[in-house]
Amino acid sequence: MTVQPSGAFEALLQEERRYPPPEEFKAQAIVRDPAVYEEAARDLEGFWARQAEQLDWFRRWERVLEWDPPWAKWFVGGQLNASYNCVDRHTQTWRRNKAALIWEGEPGDERVLTYQDVYRAVNRVALALKRSGVQKGDTVAIYLPMIPELPITMLACARIGAPHTVIFAGFSPDAIRDRINDCQAKVVITADAGYRRGHLIPLKDNIDAAVKDTPSVQQVVVFPRVGSDVRRVHMQPGRDVWWGDWLDAVQERECPPEPLDAEHPLYILYTSGTTGKPKGVLHTTAGYLLGTSLTHRWIFDLKDEDVYWCTADIGWVTGHSYVVYGPMANGATQVIFEGTPDYPDKDRWWRIIEKYRVTILYTAPTAIRGFMRWGVEYPRRCDLSSLRVLGTVGEPINPEAWVWYHEHIGGGRCPVVDTWWQTETGMILISPLPGLTTLKPGSATLPFPGVEPDIVDEQGQPVPVDRGGYLILRRPWPAMMRTIWGDPDRYVQQYWSRFPGNYFTGDGARRDSDGYYWLLGRVDDVLNVAGHRIGTMEVESALVSHPAVAEAAVIGISHELKGQAVAAFVTPRGGMAANEALAQELREHVAQKIGAIARPDRIFFTAELPKTRSAKIMRRLLRDIAEGRVLGDTTTLTDPTVLAEIKKQYEEQEG
Ligand code: ATP
Ligand code: MG
Repeated sequence: MTVQPSGAFEALLQEERRYPPPEEFKAQAIVRDPAVYEEAARDLEGFWARQAEQLDWFRRWERVLEWDPPWAKWFVGGQLNASYNCVDRHTQTWRRNKAALIWEGEPGDERVLTYQDVYRAVNRVALALKRSGVQKGDTVAIYLPMIPELPITMLACARIGAPHTVIFAGFSPDAIRDRINDCQAKVVITADAGYRRGHLIPLKDNIDAAVKDTPSVQQVVVFPRVGSDVRRVHMQPGRDVWWGDWLDAVQERECPPEPLDAEHPLYILYTSGTTGKPKGVLHTTAGYLLGTSLTHRWIFDLKDEDVYWCTADIGWVTGHSYVVYGPMANGATQVIFEGTPDYPDKDRWWRIIEKYRVTILYTAPTAIRGFMRWGVEYPRRCDLSSLRVLGTVGEPINPEAWVWYHEHIGGGRCPVVDTWWQTETGMILISPLPGLTTLKPGSATLPFPGVEPDIVDEQGQPVPVDRGGYLILRRPWPAMMRTIWGDPDRYVQQYWSRFPGNYFTGDGARRDSDGYYWLLGRVDDVLNVAGHRIGTMEVESALVSHPAVAEAAVIGISHELKGQAVAAFVTPRGGMAANEALAQELREHVAQKIGAIARPDRIFFTAELPKTRSAKIMRRLLRDIAEGRVLGDTTTLTDPTVLAEIKKQYEEQEG
């Protein structure tokens, strides 16, 4: 039997907990006046133009916005340089000697770079790039671990107008090759190797394998992260050069920042690939810099005294927008950490927070669920009292994980900002403002000033309050993607055709009677059970709210009568027996929490879930397993062996 999908879908979860901003927080917050929302709604262009005064321009813009849907141009006629805004201008004030990057390597080595230090380094790298023949408009591929040279190289590219593409330092040679060929990079910047949980990742070997098939690459620059006494690498004469020699070859010290048009390409970044083949998202200069810096200042309530730490790898958009461009444009002091949360022990992050007195922490739900699974003993070992704002991004956060984060990491005093956005949006679009917004666990709350989302059904009609539907955006915003690199048709097709004139996010959401947004999961993942369309998020959150469950991924599997039945892949918390009794208990738990319609027919226990390298659950691969199909694209998976293991466990339990 096939069930006709109705336009909208069900929303099942009701979350009653409320967290108004603490009085002390409110009193000192950067944004205290809710008038910013009306101001931006009334005059979008005026709002952004006033905020754009915070950037340093070489030439002022003539028009704020040229909007020829779906093509946007922001700050037309203006000229500026992102590296100048992130570095030079701070060296002209007291911030010259302010710590920009407080870096800790996985083995425990440390470096602190002031804005003046960053300035010197960015200039030298920019000069070296030029000497390697990189010109304005040429693309540069960067495949580096989380070391200061990564943001420095990005800013050096921005300085000379060469768009960069950062490739996460964990991707395989195939993934590197595809990305380099897609953007035709001329130069690759990499390292000999990187550290991961005490092991080495052979970065240079991966590059060697990739560039066999990338005719555009003329030079490979190698930073000695581990050194030749740890690992020797092959250097191909004429093509490969060590970082130190590369820099030593330049005589000059200063490389004046190129005055670039507001719409000059800043970078190309490939999406996480959760739903399919990654897309090369193009971001340009002025609107992106404005959107990221303003959201960073307002949403994290950033002050000069803060020590900010975003744990995302710079290889993801979160690292581009909220490690490099937003924070550095704001002159922030930030921590950059090369390692993982559990090496050498599961308290590593908390030690870092204690050591550097971190005040703002920005991380992902998957990490928080991991910490819940390990237990509170690890954060309890450390003094986390310096923290004052907590953030999350990447997936919908289960209310239980939100509350755990608030209580055990934030000590009950820190606002939690759940920030919804995408590689394509460039900047956070739905999020609390921590001095204004009353928080509801599991809700990304309200659109940022000037942002106009809506929730519609298949026909593009707005859905009633509390019904699930397709999340769209009705107005352009400055940091929006400009196109898919080399594939403008796909840009139009994928994002602007389904609901003409509106941007389609691919995510499902509902809006409650207070206007709060609740992300329900990706629309591709929506289940259809006996005519009821159900998002994945709420069923997963119901499962995660059971004390035996660490993580859960929900998919629909074919069912003779219902069309689809709910199947759940569940990772139990440490020490919990995964047996039929628990499965039965979980089915009842879900039915009781959100209703019988969502009761999982099948529950499979697995030690791990398949995740992208940006740590998002990949449900499409679980569907492939359940339907006995050939697995779809797995190149962006963290650990392909996990998948074989899940398949084995699935088949055993399927009997
Ligand atoms: P691809 O588009 O290639 O499948 P991806 O969508 O995982 O990859 P990203 O741009 O890194 O690539 O992720 C954006 C997506 O992450 C959003 O569309 C949404 O599904 C999810 N997301 C991010 N932040 C949040 C949040 N705070 N709440 C809910 N979902 C979020
Ligand atoms: Mg996406």
